[in-house]
Amino acid sequence: MEYEAIIGLEVHVQLLTKSKMFCGCDANYQDAPPNTHVCPVCLGLPGALPVINRKAVEYTIMTGLALNCEIARETKWDRKNYHYPDLPKGYQISQYDLPLTVNGYLTIEVDGQPKRIGIRRVHLEEDTGRLYHVNGQALVDYNRSGVPLIEIVSEPDIRSPEEARLYLQKLRTIVRYLGVSSGDMEAGALRVDANVSVRPVGQETFGTQVEVKNMNSFRSVKLALEYEIKRQIAILEAGGTVERETRGWIETEGRTASQRSKEEAHDYRYFPEPDLPPLDISPAWVEELRRALPEMPDQKAERYQREYGLTAYDAGLLVAERAVAEWYEEAVALGQQAKPAVAPKTIANWVTGEVFRLLREHNQEIGDLRLTPAALVELLGLVASGAITANVAKNVLREVAESGKSPAQIVDERGLRQISDETRLAEVVAQVLDQHPDEVQAYLNGREKVIKWLMGQVMRATRGQANPQVVMSLLKQHLEARRPSDS
Ligand code: ADP
Ligand code: MG
Ligand code: ZN
Repeated sequence: MEYEAIIGLEVHVQLLTKSKMFCGCDANYQDAPPNTHVCPVCLGLPGALPVINRKAVEYTIMTGLALNCEIARETKWDRKNYHYPDLPKGYQISQYDLPLTVNGYLTIEVDGQPKRIGIRRVHLEEDTGRLYHVNGQALVDYNRSGVPLIEIVSEPDIRSPEEARLYLQKLRTIVRYLGVSSGDMEAGALRVDANVSVRPVGQETFGTQVEVKNMNSFRSVKLALEYEIKRQIAILEAGGTVERETRGWIETEGRTASQRSKEEAHDYRYFPEPDLPPLDISPAWVEELRRALPEMPDQKAERYQREYGLTAYDAGLLVAERAVAEWYEEAVALGQQAKPAVAPKTIANWVTGEVFRLLREHNQEIGDLRLTPAALVELLGLVASGAITANVAKNVLREVAESGKSPAQIVDERGLRQISDETRLAEVVAQVLDQHPDEVQAYLNGREKVIKWLMGQVMRATRGQANPQVVMSLLKQHLEARRPSDS
């Protein structure tokens, strides 16, 4: 029998506010010594009262808008009660039945077609502290306690681990565009719980879902889902039933393991938070936030295709990171003013090719590069005017990125200008043909592709500086001249 996976993701995203959700403590806890960003509110001391962080509410509304959600007119806070040492109050302030935003979607690309993944809700809550286990002791750090957290719950619209990856990547891109979160999974700023079930293809109803926790990279989400799908199929094949439970991903062993049976909402004894008022969200406020949204990645990609003639694939690569998109757009603007102009498509090819290669090799962000958009445009101008070849330009680009010098300066210092002088190139062509009589013969016998190889030899002899058009026409002339006449 053939099976199909059904996946729904619950993603927690930490917000980049200055202060915590309900107190004035600094929310930037990553490098702070333990228990230094704490106060009576986030330690849950008796009598301490929470105050709502307006910026966190704005960031949640912005996220909801970017995810095509409806923004609630009225929203409220609820206590989710459970006991754990990282939760000093014994409850988490969250949102239960009136979340801030609901009913949205985000679009991923599956087999070249757009596919919408429904977003059930985006609600705002507070993070917990962190436990450390050292030498058989449990230590607790409350610096993270009370950091604003949004939970983004998808509909069960995801059908494969690959779709889950695309969804997560898109979500991460969106929160980074908005500037509401770093989206950094390694730092715990984006945390994923995956609900997964399987069903025989053709069956209408969903199978029993299992919730998988503890994945801390895109890769581990993919591996955990693959493992869990196989495990559930094996159970059904053997005639068993899948338990409704929460399982943890054990990275080192590459498997999931049962943690507990699934808790129900009533286990948490949710009730309205008595210390905080419900919120009235004015439509004018929402409109103001909507107008201030940046151009989002899908819109950008669409515009790049329309205005710059890029392929959907290249546009997608360029918009994935806002910093890259902005770098590219700066280069395009400069390229349009340059004489001769440098086309947006040419710039796109160089950014997705050579510039991305540099970033990968040095494991850098585009902002770390010494290569500026202006330098890239200057370099491509040198190619467009025929001063240097594209091959030479690739090496110059690397040198600019290392030294920060201008392309023209490097070209002049190193004497890299393109050789178009026919007399000089004719000498090189004649030499190359003399050195390779077998290839010349092959060409004359009809293997015309050999001319490309001979071209490569000329390029090598001129350190890539020869004008390719001139070389090609010289090669043809000289080869023909060596053809024995029929007479
Ligand atoms: P609960 O509130 O009990 O955790 P929900 O039905 O509210 O469960 O859904 C939680 C998450 O599980 C959502 O992301 C949803 O898309 C997903 N989900 C719901 N049903 C299934 C299913 N049968 N298989 C996989 N995922 C599911
Ligand atoms: Mg849940
Ligand atoms: Zn505090």
